[in-house]
Amino acid sequence: MSKTVLLSQVKPGAHNDSVLVVQKALAAAVGLDSSSGPGVFGRLTQDAYARWQRHLGFSGAQADGIPGEVSLKKLGDRFGFKVGPDGHQPPGGRVVSPVPKHHVTYPFGVKNPRYKAGYHTGDDYAAPDETPVVAVRNGTVRWSNDNGGAYGRWIGLQADNGRVYVYCHLSHRGADVGQSVKAGQRIGKVGRTGDVTGPHLHFEDHPAGPFVYAQCRKPSW
Ligand SMILES: [Zn+2]
Repeated sequence: MSKTVLLSQVKPGAHNDSVLVVQKALAAAVGLDSSSGPGVFGRLTQDAYARWQRHLGFSGAQADGIPGEVSLKKLGDRFGFKVGPDGHQPPGGRVVSPVPKHHVTYPFGVKNPRYKAGYHTGDDYAAPDETPVVAVRNGTVRWSNDNGGAYGRWIGLQADNGRVYVYCHLSHRGADVGQSVKAGQRIGKVGRTGDVTGPHLHFEDHPAGPFVYAQCRKPSW
C-alpha cells in the first residue's frame, strides 16, 4: 500500500510522518542525510527539496525548498507515495471568503488619490500575517511570483468561470504556475509584501488574459 503525503504537512518546521516519507524520497532523489532529523523539516531538508525543484527545472522563488503541489506530486510519482487532499476543500459548497473566517475590511471602488486608478481596485481582507488564503473557485494558477511590484508576492488564479482572481501582498505562495486547484484549497498566506500599511489580502477580479491594471470589477465569484 502506498503512503499518502499531505502537502499542508510538508513545510519548514513541520514534524510528522509526511515529512519522513518525503525525506526518504529526497534521500534517493538528490541525496539527503535524514539521520540529522528524521521527520523534521529543517534546513537540510529544505536544501534537498530545493535541489529537487531545480532538478525539475524550477529556479528562483520556484526553487525555494518549500514544497508545492506540482513538485511534490512528481516526487511521489517517482518514489511511490501519493499526495492526498488537504482537507481544506468545502464539501461542494461555495467559498465564502478568499480568507476563510475574514471579511472585507476596505472595499473595492473607494475613491483615493493614493491609487493610480484613483480608486481602490480590489477588496481588502485584513488578517494576521500567515492567515491562509484559498482558491475561491476551481481553477489553474496562471502566475505565482514575487514580482508584483506594489502588489508584492502575488498569485493569479484562472478560475472555471472565466475570471482571473488576483491574490496580493502574500507572505507565502503555496501554489505553482500551472497547478490545478480546487475551490477552498489553500494557495498562500496573508502577508505585507509590496506597498502596504499592514497585513491583508488585496483581492482583485479581472477578465481572462494578461493582467491589466485597473481592468477589474468588484470581486464576485
Ligand atoms: Zn487593497
